Amino acid sequence: MHIETNASLKAYNTFGLNAKCKYLIKIHSTDSLQELIQSKLYKENPHLILGGGSNVLFTKDFNGIVIINELSGIEKTSENDETVNINAAAGENWHQFVLHCIENNWAGIENLSLIPGTVGAAPMQNIGAYGVEVKDVITKVNAINLETGEMEQFSNDECRFGYRTSIFKTSHKNKYFITSVDFTLSKKPHFNTSYGAIRQKLDEMGVKELSLKAVSDAVIAIRTEKLPNPEEIGNAGSFFKNPTVSQETFARLKKNFPDIPNYPQPDNKVKLAAGWLIEQCGWKGKTFDGYGVHKNQALVLVNYSLENGQPIYDLSEKIIESVQNKFGITLEREVNVY
Ligand code: FAD
Ligand code: NAP
Repeated sequence: MHIETNASLKAYNTFGLNAKCKYLIKIHSTDSLQELIQSKLYKENPHLILGGGSNVLFTKDFNGIVIINELSGIEKTSENDETVNINAAAGENWHQFVLHCIENNWAGIENLSLIPGTVGAAPMQNIGAYGVEVKDVITKVNAINLETGEMEQFSNDECRFGYRTSIFKTSHKNKYFITSVDFTLSKKPHFNTSYGAIRQKLDEMGVKELSLKAVSDAVIAIRTEKLPNPEEIGNAGSFFKNPTVSQETFARLKKNFPDIPNYPQPDNKVKLAAGWLIEQCGWKGKTFDGYGVHKNQALVLVNYSLENGQPIYDLSEKIIESVQNKFGITLEREVNVY
């Protein structure tokens, strides 16, 4: 097992922050992960698991072991006329996995195209976009309990998926290393094109007959136009979650802000667009010394040249405060702060 000491994490987080860690270890097999967690080094140091580092903000150095997940492999485990079951190793790149499924005509995750990061982190916050959440296709999450070294399996229900959350982001955070995920995908697609600009983009692209690839291409095109590419501008996607409020709160807000975008939820609550709330507070496109709020989407905080993420965290505090003052709503961070 190769151990790098006093390593920079700059290449391992999409904000491009130059935090350091005491030890950096890349894991290519579950055996080497088992070996690591039995070691004295592991027992004497705190640990942090990283996939693609696209949902983390480092505000300081990490005084312990950063474990980079590079487990690989995608396998079809069974199929019938309607569905196919796939096991994908946690270190696989999420977008490449989506493309692999599309090439094989396996439907269900095409709307989740171009989300950065790894397969193993996808259940962690139940990634979602354009009306689809990964929980819709996950049958099982396989993970190693980092205290006992035992492999455990979590059914979809046991993962307690919610809006951008799961047991792995709450009570089990940093206690389990997700090693692979089992998916059930469909051989007969049910296209979901009603969300956001997908339909319009498909029309612009001149698509006459829907296909998984066409939907994926439309999502890729929209995302490329709207979101900053982390290879060019450091960011971790949406910094905050969209809040949901009661009908009562919504009625109060609607009275004062008649144009407020709102999405009624099955549980009778109303989802609001955090990006809109932040924009109304005047933050959209604001630039400070080396960081700021993205010009196209106020939900995305960006890093132009910072080496340390503390100012971005401080900015997020100010944003939370101003949204609280204007709307009486407390925004919650989606990004994992270290
Ligand atoms: P990391 O950032 O490496 O880790 C995230 C958290 O998960 C950390 O706390 C880490 O410790 C933990 N973790 C990672 N791997 C494991 C593992 N194997 N076992 C246990 N814990 C683990 N998210 C969406 O939901 N929808 C979007 O549309 C979306 N768009 C994005 C667009 C951009 C441009 C960017 C930069 C980010 C976007 N994100 C989006 C956020 C991010 O891509 C996802 O949350 C992604 O799943 C993170 O994967 P990762 O491998 O980079 O995780
Ligand atoms: P958008 O289309 O400008 O919409 C703004 C917000 O309104 C979104 O956050 C979305 O909530 C909500 N929304 C829009 N249409 C909706 C509908 N028909 N029903 C319910 N809610 C609706 O958003 P965007 O910024 O361009 O992002 C597009 C999609 O990619 C969204 O699903 C977003 O979540 C996802 N995305 C996520 C991240 C991340 O880091 N988490 C980053 C970029 C994009 P939802 O967020 O709940 O979908």
